[in-house]
Amino acid sequence: MKKNIITNGLLKWYDLNKRDLPWRKSTDPYKIWLSEVILQQTRVDQGLPYFLSFVEKYPTVFHLAKAHIDEVLRAWQGLGYYSRARNMHKCAKIVVAQFDGIFPENKHELIKLPGIGAYTAAAIASLAYGKQEAVVDGNVIRLITRLYGIEADISDKKTINEIQRIVDKLISKTDPHLFNQAIMEFGALHCTPKNPSCSNCDFLGLCVAQINNQLAKIPFKSSKTKKRLRFFTYLVINIHGRYLMRKRDSKDIWQGLFEFYLIETNSELDFDQLPFPKNIIQSPTKWKVNNESKLYKHLLSHQTLLCRFIEIEMNQDFDFKSTDWDGYKLYSKMEIEQLPKSILTDRYLGEKIN
Ligand code: SF4
Repeated sequence: MKKNIITNGLLKWYDLNKRDLPWRKSTDPYKIWLSEVILQQTRVDQGLPYFLSFVEKYPTVFHLAKAHIDEVLRAWQGLGYYSRARNMHKCAKIVVAQFDGIFPENKHELIKLPGIGAYTAAAIASLAYGKQEAVVDGNVIRLITRLYGIEADISDKKTINEIQRIVDKLISKTDPHLFNQAIMEFGALHCTPKNPSCSNCDFLGLCVAQINNQLAKIPFKSSKTKKRLRFFTYLVINIHGRYLMRKRDSKDIWQGLFEFYLIETNSELDFDQLPFPKNIIQSPTKWKVNNESKLYKHLLSHQTLLCRFIEIEMNQDFDFKSTDWDGYKLYSKMEIEQLPKSILTDRYLGEKIN
């Protein structure tokens, strides 16, 4: 009984309250996949312009697969979590090379593709192909734990499996795609993390967390992992109006994006204590500090970065062919504008290099 009330209630609510979003007008698996990748860890209002510009730039998976990764990263700039863009590009290439540009219909095949997890696979299978695959995202987790009074830790895989079993039973047999949209939209707009709209909720009489006054405790997530604190000093080496940059190959963050010479330290050091490249230390008369930026605080999901940029102007020719400078090249301001960069570097450039 509870199942029918919830399933029908969600479908009815969705019909009356759904937002008009462009990816909902399409059953094209490419567009659905694109929207799901963009919207992971991103708000709809932030992701929407990116979705529209990606569809315009790369109307099909063939266009995306053909694009250079630097261009894709540049288009992604500002969305963060750049591994999503790199995986998206890899995935597009595989879909073209192995599936003739047609995304598989089956969740188990989809999940093998780069960047596609259980949630995205279920979303593509149901929204594009009408398969009966229930989605479990953050909104669904919140709604189901509240409705069923699940007090267990949602960082525990067992809890997520339990939620998956519940939604697998709830999903509409006739309209699985609408049900998935409805349950996510209800969580996003109605059963919100703070101040859910309980007073006008169709499930008021059967929502266990509401009845037992447990909304402050459910969903429960055990204490989050402590964020790692990192100190970045970028040397912005200016040689006659052009700047030394290279593509970051480090696998931790911002892989594939362009950056200035980076000195990472365990604490915030004074200028004189920084481990500068040898040929800068050895030729103190060849350069001067033009500008030292403010300290930028940049928050990522598992780390906090404290970053500053020191612009150093070389007044003579500077040999950057030594091993300290492997991979570095000189770029003009116009060229830098076109390079994929972290949003932090972009902010600095917008503020400092005129
Ligand atoms: S009664 Fe409140 S907590 Fe329960 S489902 Fe409705 S909005 Fe969410």
